[in-house]
Amino acid sequence: MPEHNLCQEFLSQISDYLDNNIDPLTCDELEKHLVDCPNCRVFVDTLKKTVYLYQQQEADINVPSEVRGRLFKVLNLDDLTR
Ligand SMILES: [Zn+2]
Repeated sequence: MPEHNLCQEFLSQISDYLDNNIDPLTCDELEKHLVDCPNCRVFVDTLKKTVYLYQQQEADINVPSEVRGRLFKVLNLDDLTR
């Protein structure tokens, strides 16, 4: 199979992989692909860091997303009236 297809398959399952939400067999295949494919390795690494930072931020700020959404709306309106 061409490498490109493997990468696409990998990326389509990456969120399940990060959530540990896939069966062990698929997980094995994905991890084998990671060993062979530096591109996907970098991608997963970046994604993991992003998710981690995002979760840290969530914990620190501790604002419900609904409230944040309203806050952003207010800020956008502020920008428009300036
Ligand atoms: Zn790949």
